[in-house]
Amino acid sequence: MEHTSVLERFLRYVKIDTQSEESDQVPSTGKQWNLARLLAEELNQIGASNVRLDPEHAYVYAEIPASGNLPETKARLEAGAKAPVLGFIAHMDTSNAVSGADVNPRIVKDYDGGEIVLNAVNGVVLSPSEYPDLLKYRGRDLVVTDGNTLLGADDKAGIAEIMAMAEYLLSNPSVPHGEIRIGFTPDEEVGRGVDYFDVPGFGADYAYTVDGGEVGEIEYENFNAASARLHIHGTSIHPGSAKGKMINAILLASEFQNLLPVYENPSSTEGYEGFYHPDSIAGNVDEVQVDYIIRDHDMEKFEQKKDFFRKTCDFLNEKYGKGTFTAEISDSYYNMKEKILPHMHLIDNAKKAMEEAGVKPIILPIRGGTDGARLSYMGLPCPNLCTGGQNCHGRYEYVCVQSMETVVDILLNLVQRYTAAK
Ligand SMILES: [Zn+2]
Repeated sequence: MEHTSVLERFLRYVKIDTQSEESDQVPSTGKQWNLARLLAEELNQIGASNVRLDPEHAYVYAEIPASGNLPETKARLEAGAKAPVLGFIAHMDTSNAVSGADVNPRIVKDYDGGEIVLNAVNGVVLSPSEYPDLLKYRGRDLVVTDGNTLLGADDKAGIAEIMAMAEYLLSNPSVPHGEIRIGFTPDEEVGRGVDYFDVPGFGADYAYTVDGGEVGEIEYENFNAASARLHIHGTSIHPGSAKGKMINAILLASEFQNLLPVYENPSSTEGYEGFYHPDSIAGNVDEVQVDYIIRDHDMEKFEQKKDFFRKTCDFLNEKYGKGTFTAEISDSYYNMKEKILPHMHLIDNAKKAMEEAGVKPIILPIRGGTDGARLSYMGLPCPNLCTGGQNCHGRYEYVCVQSMETVVDILLNLVQRYTAAK
């Protein structure tokens, strides 16, 4: 069978619009089925086993059996040194920040380090003065947009890389590897990517999401996250006769915010620093609702932040009367670190797989969440690996062709590292 390069796959997948949107349904948009069906078909074509397309929610699952035909591997298997079942997961949807319809990718060959005019008519230019990472790709080939849409490297680069890895293993049965599982999910960008993920059916001991950025990135620490809905009940009265009577909920909202630590907001924090973030506000004199998010990598500090939020309500209720402030706080997701630490081989092997591919590993805390974080708490430890994509969620998104090829090598190295695992 003809082999399809990771680039060809990538170009094919980005042309299929799979934008997700806020919804109670999974998939949130019917068009995600188009890619799900194609991937199921391609997985069958390359000879993957037990290919399943979830008829309700559009998840795609497949398996690659262990290549137990090698005498060496077989002997190992018989000796009970079974390689763990490894899963690889990527998401099919794209962000709704910018359109993902009619994506028209262009390849810039042998990039010279200068400005790339994405769209002359609209004056959209991808420039190293704004995006200095571009300079790392001098002499490489880049896939860019036409300036009207996002590219969709997040996460179709991940899908193309997993598919290329799968095709390679299935057409080279002499390469030793354990059992492999593949999962493609809908609706990651709207936070519902693992709502219906069938962890037991997937059957992996460990997995990696392939949904990161620059080549070398390995992520296994993310925020602990909560949402906090603040209700403020004021007392409305005609402003002309309000003296001593009006309690203006708008002013109280401001007072509440001013009691929170002034630097602990997204615009002045980085790395492992957590924050309180007022994300939206609605209301009038009588009533105001503010939706906050609370984030911290450290569980103790996370609990302290939620506690401080509640205590601030209590303090102001002392001042303005019981029930003036109410807070509904609910946890959204947790730092996967706790679930990865007992399995640090996941990180060590990923590092080694990168070094074998000539890549320097970059380990950074994620200032957000990942599907892998939720999967880790659903019983499937699941760090995140790079895809090679840059500037995701916008029209300046690009991916380096050689980076995608390197990620395929990294995945293959990783798989082989686990063959020898006990
Ligand atoms: Zn993504």
